[in-house]
Amino acid sequence: MIRFYNGSVLTMIENDGVRSCEVWTDGDRIAFVGVPSQKQLEETVFERQIDLKGDLLMPSFKNAHTHSAMTFLRSYADDMPLQDWLFKQVFPMEAKLNDERVYWLTRLAILEYLTSGCTAAFDMYFNLDAYVDACVGSGFRSVLCGSVSGGPERASEAEDNFKKYNGKNPLISYILGFHAEYTCSKELMAAIGELAKKYQAPAAMHSSETKHEVDECIGRYKMTPTQLFDSLGIYDFGGAAFHCVHLTDEDRQILKKRNVSAVHCPASNLKLASGIADIVKMQQAGINVALGTDGPASNNALDMFREMYLMTTLQKVKNEDASACDAQSVLRAATVGGAQAMFLKDCDVIAVGKQADLVVIDLQRPNMQPQNNLVKNIVYSGDKTNVRLTMCAGRVLYEEGEFFVGEQVQTIYAKANSIISEMKQE
Ligand SMILES: [Zn+2]
Repeated sequence: MIRFYNGSVLTMIENDGVRSCEVWTDGDRIAFVGVPSQKQLEETVFERQIDLKGDLLMPSFKNAHTHSAMTFLRSYADDMPLQDWLFKQVFPMEAKLNDERVYWLTRLAILEYLTSGCTAAFDMYFNLDAYVDACVGSGFRSVLCGSVSGGPERASEAEDNFKKYNGKNPLISYILGFHAEYTCSKELMAAIGELAKKYQAPAAMHSSETKHEVDECIGRYKMTPTQLFDSLGIYDFGGAAFHCVHLTDEDRQILKKRNVSAVHCPASNLKLASGIADIVKMQQAGINVALGTDGPASNNALDMFREMYLMTTLQKVKNEDASACDAQSVLRAATVGGAQAMFLKDCDVIAVGKQADLVVIDLQRPNMQPQNNLVKNIVYSGDKTNVRLTMCAGRVLYEEGEFFVGEQVQTIYAKANSIISEMKQE
C-alpha cells in the first residue's frame, strides 16, 4: 500500500471539486480515497508514505492520439508543405525503421510523456512487438490502434493483431483501425467494418484532418470520411476519430449517434496548417472530446499542458467568444475524455477500484499561485514543470525529475541519437 497524504485531491468525478483527503494505492489499484480514521491508519501497513506537502493529486493525462516512435523525425523535417513533408521526408525515413529502432525511439517518447504527467498513449504505428516491449519495460500503458493501409489483404493482419495484443498484458490493449481513408482501399475499410461487427468492437482512424482529404473523399465516394465510415459499419460499436478538423453537422450527428470520440490535436493541426477543429460544436452535439499530441514529427512536443492551452484559446478565437471551451471541459478532455476515447474504463477518475494512474501537481511554484482556482491554474498557467510525480498502474515512473523506467535515461538518449545518425547515413 502506498499512502498519499497532506494534500488535496481533484478526483475529476463530475461536480466533485477539489477535496482535502488522502489517496491510498494497493498494487495497480486505488484502494482508499477519503479521510482515514486513526484506527485505519494504525492497522494499515504502508510500503511508502508520500507527503504531498499541500500539492494536488489528480488523474493522469491520456494522450489519445500519437505515433510515439516518430521521435526520430523531431526537428528533422519542419517548415515544409504537408505533401513534401510526408512524401520526401517522413515516408523515406520510416522505411528504415526496424524493431530495435522503434524500441529505443519509443522509450524516448515515454520519458517525455511521463514528464507531462501522461500515463497512457493511443498509439498508431508499426513494429508492434518492439513498441509493446518498450511500453511494458517502462511500466507505461498503451492502447495500440490498427494502422493498416492499402488493399483488403491487410485486414487479416488487423484481426491477428486484435487477437494477439488484447489480453496479453494488463498495460496493453488493441483497438481495430486503419490509417485513413486516403491510404486505404474501400475494400479494406469495409473489411475492418466486418471485423468491428464480428468482434462487436470499436474502430479508430485519422479522419477529416485536412480540407483536401475531405474534398477528395467526397470526389471518390460522394460522402465525407465520417459518412463513408458509418456507411461501411465501421462505427457500429463506437470508436475514435483522430483530428476531426473539417466536420459537417451531419458528421457530428453520426459521431454522437455512434458513440465515436473525437480526438483533438491542436498543436499538430496548427503546425501542419490543417485548420482549427470546432470543439464548441462537438461539445454542443454531446460528442466525447479527447486530446492528443499527434506524433513528434508534427508537433513537435509530447506535452499535454501545451495541448490543453491551445485547445481552449483556439476555441475562444475561432468562436470570437472568451467564454468558449472553459478550463473544466479542457481538463476533462485531457483526462476522463481521453480514457473514454481509449476504452480505458478504469483509468478515468480517482476512485476506489480504479487503476492507480495518477499525477501529483506541484503547487509550490509561482505559476500555481495564488490558488483561486486550481483547474484554471492547471489549464491556463500550468506546464510540465508542475508535474512532481507520475504513477502508472500503481508504480511511480517519474518523481522530482527522476525516471524509474528500468533503463538509464542517458542510455535511451544515446541509443536514440545513434539510431538517428545511422538512419541519415543509410
Ligand atoms: Zn496521426
